[in-house]
Amino acid sequence: MSVRRNTLEPDAMSAIVNCLCPECGGVIELETNRLECLRCGKHWRQVWERIRLRTASKVKRFSPTRS
Ligand SMILES: [Zn+2]
Repeated sequence: MSVRRNTLEPDAMSAIVNCLCPECGGVIELETNRLECLRCGKHWRQVWERIRLRTASKVKRFSPTRS
């Protein structure tokens, strides 16, 4: 098993997608657009945007092409 510390763990990604802080389990506030954890105060915006880029490329694949 190899652990890459530079990349996000799938658990952390899913947690952020569900608006939960991967580090403390607190709620990430999406309304302010800063994605700040309400418990520990950590900002997850950069991580969130990285995830969004990944999911965006995924969505592209699944998008139906109707003409
Ligand atoms: Zn937190």
